[in-house]
Amino acid sequence: FFQKSLFLLFLTCFCGIFLKMKAIYVSKQRSQMENLESHTSQTRLETSSAKTMMDIGTRRIFNEDHDIFRQSVRRFFQEEVVPHHKEWEKAGQVSRELWEKAGEQGLLGVMIPEEHGGIGGDVFSAAITWEEQMYCNCTGPGFALHSDIVMPYIINYGSKEQIERFIPNMTAGKCIGAIAMTEPGAGSDLQGVRTYAKKDGSDWILNGNKVFITNGWMADLVVVVTVTNREAKTAAHGISLFLVEDGMKGFQKGRKLDKIGLKAQDTAELFFEDVRLPATALLGELNKGFYYLMNELPQERLLIADMAIASCEFMFEETRNYVLQRKAFGKTIAHLQTVQHKLAELKTEICVGRSFVDNCLLLLAEKRLDPSTASMAKFWASELQNKVATQCLQLHGGWGYMLEYPIAKAFVDSRVQPIYGGTNEIMKELIARSIVSQ
Ligand SMILES: Cc1cc2nc3c(=O)[nH]c(=O)nc-3n(C[C@H](O)[C@H](O)[C@H](O)COP(=O)(O)OP(=O)(O)OC[C@H]3O[C@@H](n4cnc5c(N)ncnc54)[C@H](O)[C@@H]3O)c2cc1C
Repeated sequence: FFQKSLFLLFLTCFCGIFLKMKAIYVSKQRSQMENLESHTSQTRLETSSAKTMMDIGTRRIFNEDHDIFRQSVRRFFQEEVVPHHKEWEKAGQVSRELWEKAGEQGLLGVMIPEEHGGIGGDVFSAAITWEEQMYCNCTGPGFALHSDIVMPYIINYGSKEQIERFIPNMTAGKCIGAIAMTEPGAGSDLQGVRTYAKKDGSDWILNGNKVFITNGWMADLVVVVTVTNREAKTAAHGISLFLVEDGMKGFQKGRKLDKIGLKAQDTAELFFEDVRLPATALLGELNKGFYYLMNELPQERLLIADMAIASCEFMFEETRNYVLQRKAFGKTIAHLQTVQHKLAELKTEICVGRSFVDNCLLLLAEKRLDPSTASMAKFWASELQNKVATQCLQLHGGWGYMLEYPIAKAFVDSRVQPIYGGTNEIMKELIARSIVSQ
């Protein structure tokens, strides 16, 4: 009797587990199907058929919740950023207050899981914040770098203590993040960095300097790319990441750099002179820094690509409005066939770019975006952005050269896109490597 009961108990447990697993499998399948359906929804127009390229409620990668979020982000940028941007361009930085307002509005750390102190949104919601910033033509706030480049390093490689210490404050806009890779003598050749941390007991002593650091002047926290083993078999094997905080003795910020564009974005030099770092400042494992950088760069590159296409969409709409009201020879210039053909060419190219970048966003959401595809997106979209900027400015004539016209600002702001995040020549190197490698 005892054996029979044991057998029946075992059978019941087994059936229970089997049914539970089946239920999980079915619900997973159903949610995947729903996801797919929402992504292939026939009711949402793609950019090419929408009334304007910045319409809310378009593109199959988004759903109605995203539209509501986009409305609130658009409102935020129009109310909190646009009216102050000129004054921030003169100051070379945005205000701290703006960061905290963005935090209160839930616009920072959008993609960071809620349990770690972020907003817990998806890739597409983060993309909305990137795109809306370009749609208002205000490049000052370095939100994207803070939220979607710096915060992921802490989430992906940080200790529990580091996550708890920095992420909630970063989401609230009370701690501004930056990442310092580039040095005066090492940009494209990242393995050539000289900033060096020497072990001293359980501490590290950091020396070196960095240049062109976005958010560098306002940063409270900087992820610093540092050599920790000069004898490593390759330079890449001897690089680590450290979290360096504003106010640490020996950490100095240089001047805000005077750039041709991105006037309201603080780009700075950083100096480290015998900065004593506790062991807890090391981010992730010792000498794994280069590997972490390679892991994170595809997301940075797609972010640049998505912002580039959004900027193209903005410039196109600005120009369409301009040619529809600007008169020459008794008619609006939109009547001229050469102008119409130019707009037709630009619209086609932007829509082709949008399709590819939206597909890359889907791949990123599914954690399937490979480095070479991200490099293609960054290279192609940023080149297109500069082409669109040049041609849209041309369609504005002399007024396009005047900074009071939005197209002029978009033109100068575009120029950096093929340079940072890895130059486009380096993007081609990465794409080519994947083509010829056996
Ligand atoms: C506004 C702005 C913001 C930035 N923000 C940051 C930031 O937040 N953090 C950060 O770390 N860095 C930042 N950077 C730095 C940026 O990433 C570098 O400028 C970029 O990687 C290029 O490095 P470099 O300037 O040293 O140019 P170099 O590496 O000296 O390149 C000069 C030229 O040589 C070409 N070249 C170099 N190597 C090769 C090769 N192997 N094959 C073909 N061509 C090659 C390049 O493509 C380029 O055309 C920023 C730069 C700017 C302008």
